[in-house]
Amino acid sequence: MINIPKGTKDVLPQDAYKWQYVESTAREIAGLFNLKEIRTPTFEHTELFQRGVGDTTDIVTKEMYTFKDKGDRSITLKPEGTAGTVRSFIESGLINGVLPAKMYYITPAFRYERPQAGRLREFHQFGVEIFGAKSAQTDAEAIVMADALLKKLGLQVQLYINSIGCPTCRAAYNKALKEFFAPHLDTLCYDCKTRYEKNPLRLLDCKEEGCKKINADAPKILDYLCEDCRAHFEELKTCLQLAGVEYIIDSRIVRGLDYYTRSVFEFVSTSIGAQGTVCAGGRYDGLIAELGGNPMPAVGFAAGIERWLIVMEQSGVVIPEPQKPTVYIAGMDGACRQKAFELAIVMRKKGIFVEIDHMERSVKAQFKYADKLGAKYVAVIGGNELEEGRANVKCMATGTSESVAFADMATYFLTK
Ligand SMILES: [Zn+2]
Ligand SMILES: [Zn+2]
Repeated sequence: MINIPKGTKDVLPQDAYKWQYVESTAREIAGLFNLKEIRTPTFEHTELFQRGVGDTTDIVTKEMYTFKDKGDRSITLKPEGTAGTVRSFIESGLINGVLPAKMYYITPAFRYERPQAGRLREFHQFGVEIFGAKSAQTDAEAIVMADALLKKLGLQVQLYINSIGCPTCRAAYNKALKEFFAPHLDTLCYDCKTRYEKNPLRLLDCKEEGCKKINADAPKILDYLCEDCRAHFEELKTCLQLAGVEYIIDSRIVRGLDYYTRSVFEFVSTSIGAQGTVCAGGRYDGLIAELGGNPMPAVGFAAGIERWLIVMEQSGVVIPEPQKPTVYIAGMDGACRQKAFELAIVMRKKGIFVEIDHMERSVKAQFKYADKLGAKYVAVIGGNELEEGRANVKCMATGTSESVAFADMATYFLTK
């Protein structure tokens, strides 16, 4: 037997409704905010992610599925959804169209994670991108939308926000950070030594205990924001207050990706036994230019769908179960089963949810199966019924029976 590759998972037919529920809820909320869906390829040129995600990030340095195709091109399975969306936004010419351009995606993403981290190597993301608007109100709208969606999914969350400034004010902050970390260089972990040189901001989100301890006393970026960035952050807070979305300012949120500017945010689950980040995003005014477009502001967020489903289950959220068959038509013998087959075709054309026997089982066994399926009614066709042109219809909830003519079956069940 061939097994599923490590870090991947099947969604089985009995569980798919949970995915459909989460996805349709996400589409519904996105629609309310006038976002349209974008679908981009599963693989892109490797360079897109090196430039768009940042070649100092763990994603690019350690986790990408990169390979040479038969044309000797370096190809990478997308490790996240933003870079491809931005590439398409530029390449399609939408960048020259009406702004803002608001879109969302639901996509598989691929990262070669260490198995012990309990993370999947193929996972799924829902993400939102709003291109062309620089106002803090737009950041607030993205956050309000994420909040509405998470709550609609039944998640209990706390929002954390921060600003990581613009290239101007971050230069001063990076300098302060380097001064602060310089005496601790020997005690920092291996990755942080590289970060110290390439991207000091990322020293702050190191998960190593030793580094975290040192980080606690690091200077805070909010103290280094320039006038414009400070005003932007103030406006964001005002908009969130207007929207009634509560937040906590957390200066440790700097995001793992290089292209973020100004607002950054995370929603964390507050359910007991189901903690962890369930949505993260921010502003990335530098990315579009980085990928070859005219400089243009952008804000967005992404969330892991698997993570949502786990937290929903751990928090006891009940996902509505899919519809059950309205009627199961049971046939006693070959001729009766043929009649059931014929009736099912007619009734399904009218939009009635009908199931019939495909296993040539006894009527008793068919009843059992219909019950297992949760059919509301079982219509039995035996030899007598076939002759009279009627079925004996039993309501499974009440146990009462009724005789219904074959010709009336569709009309009868249309109202059930
Ligand atoms: Zn600034
Ligand atoms: Zn570290």
